[in-house]
Amino acid sequence: MIVVGGGPAGAVTAGLLAKDGRRVLLLEREKFPRYHIGESLNPGLVPALERMGLRERLDEIGYLRKYGATFVWGAGVEPWDFRFNEGSPYEYVHQVRRADFDALLLARARELGAVVVEEATVKDIVQDGERVTGVTYQTKAAVTPRTARCRMLVDASGQQHLLARRFDLLNWHDDLRNIAVWSYWQGCELYAGNRAGDTLVENLPEGWIWYIPLADGTVSIGYVTPVEQYKKAAPQNAEAFLHEQLTRTCEVSRLTRNAVQVSGVRTIKDWSYQATRFQGPGWALVGDAAAFVDPLLSSGVTLAMRAAERLADGLGRVLDHPESEEEVLTRYEKNYQEFLGVILEFVRVFYDRTRLKEEYWDEAQRAIDPDALLNSKVDFVTLISGLFGTAEIFDPVDVP
Ligand SMILES: Cc1cc2nc3c(=O)[nH]c(=O)nc-3n(C[C@H](O)[C@H](O)[C@H](O)COP(=O)(O)OP(=O)(O)OC[C@H]3O[C@@H](n4cnc5c(N)ncnc54)[C@H](O)[C@@H]3O)c2cc1C
Repeated sequence: MIVVGGGPAGAVTAGLLAKDGRRVLLLEREKFPRYHIGESLNPGLVPALERMGLRERLDEIGYLRKYGATFVWGAGVEPWDFRFNEGSPYEYVHQVRRADFDALLLARARELGAVVVEEATVKDIVQDGERVTGVTYQTKAAVTPRTARCRMLVDASGQQHLLARRFDLLNWHDDLRNIAVWSYWQGCELYAGNRAGDTLVENLPEGWIWYIPLADGTVSIGYVTPVEQYKKAAPQNAEAFLHEQLTRTCEVSRLTRNAVQVSGVRTIKDWSYQATRFQGPGWALVGDAAAFVDPLLSSGVTLAMRAAERLADGLGRVLDHPESEEEVLTRYEKNYQEFLGVILEFVRVFYDRTRLKEEYWDEAQRAIDPDALLNSKVDFVTLISGLFGTAEIFDPVDVP
C-alpha cells in the first residue's frame, strides 16, 4: 500500500492500516512540522483519534479544549452559541496548531508501523493498463527518481490533488470561490468558562471573520470573502485589507481591542471543489485530494480523518479479499460523496445570512433527521460536529 501525503488524511489512513499489520509506505513532500491552515477541529474526528491512540495525548500536550462555537451570524444581531454536548457524544475537541497536530499524527503513523519518508515528492503514477500499480517519487537525497509498486495507491496529497489532476476529475463549485486572508494576534480577550476555546464566526456584509483561540494565548483571525469581492476591493496591501475588515466587526473588535498582531499576513484561495470520482482500479482519494468544502464550518480535518478511517477499514478488506475491491471502493465513494453533499448543502444554506438561527437548526434537521425525531438544535450541533445523526452514513465497511 502506498499513501501520498502525510496530512491528517494520509497519516490516519496509513496509521490505521499499519496498526492492522499491513505494509504501508507513506511519501510526504515536506519535512514535518510544516505550516498548515485549519486549526479548529470538530468532534466527528474523535473516533479516528481514539483509534490512532491519540485522544488523551492531545489533553496531555495541553491543546486548548473547544467545547462549542459562537456565532454573530444570521438575521439576529446578538451572538449565539452551542455546546457540542447538546448534540454529540463528545463534549469537547481541540484547537490546534496544525504544524504540531499534523506532526503528531504522522509520528503516530510511524509508531504504528507505517514506513514514512519525508521530503519525498511523488512525481507521477505507474499504470498497468487502467490499473494504478505504483508511483515514481523523488527524494531530496537521491539523484534520480525512484519507483515503488503497490497493491493500492491512496492519494492524500491535499490541494495538490495528484490523481484528480492526472485523471482530470476536478469539479469546482463556482458559488464558493473564496479567498482567505489571516494572521495571528496575542492579548485578545476570550470568553469565560467553557466558552474560552470557542471558535467565533462573525458575519460582515461581504464576508466573514474566523477567530480561533490557541493554547499559547495566540488567536488565529482570518477574513473570508468571495474572490470577486476581493478583486473589486483591489487591495494594495493584504495586511491593510485585513485590518480594515476587522474594524468593521463588533464582537471581534471588542475581543481584540488590546491585542497585538504577532505575525505576517497570509492569503490563500479557498475555492471549494469535488472530484467526480473518488476511486478506480488500484486507487482511492481521501481528504482534500477528494474534495474541499468551504472553511465556514471548520469541517476539513474532520472530513479527512473520518474518511481516512473508513478507507483504511475498506482497504484492509480489499487486501484480504481482492475480489471485493470494486464493491468496497464504490461503497466508500458513495458514502463519502453523500456525507460531503450534506455538508456542502448546509454550508450553502448557512451562507444565507438573512435567516434566524432557528431556521438554520430546522435546515439541519431537514438534512439529517427528516422525520424530526430529535430537537432541531440537537440536529444542528450533530451536523456541525461532523457527525451524521439518526442515520450514520459512513457506516462500517461490511462487504464479504
Ligand atoms: C482558509 C482555510 C481555513 C481552514 N480552516 C479549517 C479549520 O478551521 N478546520 C478544519 O478542520 N479545516 C480547515 N481547513 C481545511 C483543512 O485545512 C483541510 O481540509 C485539511 O488540511 C485536509 O487534510 P489532508 O490531509 O487532506 O490534506 P493536507 O493537510 O493538505 O495534507 C496533504 C499533504 O500532502 C503532501 N503532498 C502534496 N503533494 C504531494 C506529493 N506530490 N508527494 C508527496 N506529498 C505530497 C503535502 O505536503 C501535505 O503535507 C481550512 C482550509 C482553508 C483553505
